[in-house]
Amino acid sequence: MMQITMPLGFLGTVYREIRQALVDMGEMFDLLHQPAEITDAPGAPALKVAGGEVVFDHVAFGYDPNRTILSDLSLRVAPGQRVALVGPSGAGKSTIGKLLFRFYDVTGGSLRIDGQDVRQVTQDSLRAAIGVVPQDTVLFNDTIYYNIAYGRADATRAEVEAAARAARIHDFIVSLPDGYDTTVGERGLKLSGGEKQRVGIARTLLKNPPILLLDEATSALDTQTERDIQDSLRAMGQGRTVITIAHRLSTISDADQIVVLEAGRIVEQGRHEQLLAAGGRYAAMWARQSAEEEAA
Ligand code: ATP
Repeated sequence: MMQITMPLGFLGTVYREIRQALVDMGEMFDLLHQPAEITDAPGAPALKVAGGEVVFDHVAFGYDPNRTILSDLSLRVAPGQRVALVGPSGAGKSTIGKLLFRFYDVTGGSLRIDGQDVRQVTQDSLRAAIGVVPQDTVLFNDTIYYNIAYGRADATRAEVEAAARAARIHDFIVSLPDGYDTTVGERGLKLSGGEKQRVGIARTLLKNPPILLLDEATSALDTQTERDIQDSLRAMGQGRTVITIAHRLSTISDADQIVVLEAGRIVEQGRHEQLLAAGGRYAAMWARQSAEEEAA
């Protein structure tokens, strides 16, 4: 009996992992155009993550052979570093995220995680190593417990609650009449944008990936919610490599490295203070956003 249930249980876990990865990424990227030709190399081993170093080495990429989106892009994200990608709409920020997940293969150069080319490892292991917190977390029509536990099939109740605490959503959940058994989603309790995002953070914390890809919300939530979310995200980033696709510069001013992209090229790179002092593109974006926030 054991011999039968164990492989089935394992398959169930793999199925859930893959489904979750697809759900996460479907939320984040427009997958309608995803090409089907990405396959595992024959006999590809699983990715082994040690520190979580991410290297883009002279990467070139275009969705269409006639139109280059990223040209000669080189970027090293050290293990445990927090990097923010900023730049105008269409600069290529999300494309970098899609390449990291290997939704597409680079057309030039390579992309490595802890020295392993993403084309040479299994897609399952690659996607299991990267956690995504999208702008808008999709909730299933199920209990809030299920929605968090989804991050890892074998999580215990204590682990689910610990993740919810770390994501600062536990107190809210236990204040509901049905607590963790409250049905959420379309047919259940409607959660606010900030609450949904914290459920997403709890889910990702449970998955415990060494590398995080955060897609920051474009529009600001109210100030207190924003602060809570930023606190949870920061806590989640401890000891992990974090790549943030940022829209609002105020949330990334303490990043280890800010990368300014324009038309698929890195045009500036450094810490907030350095970039402000340099008086270039970033400084101009900062001045513009500060003025807009003040006016609002
Ligand atoms: P935003 O801040 O608006 O999200 P971004 O910096 O993330 O922008 P990308 O989404 O990476 O920009 O887009 C870079 C370029 O690639 C854009 O010109 C876009 O039109 C193009 N592009 C994005 N996805 C696809 C796709 N699936 N097929 C063809 N072109 C695409």
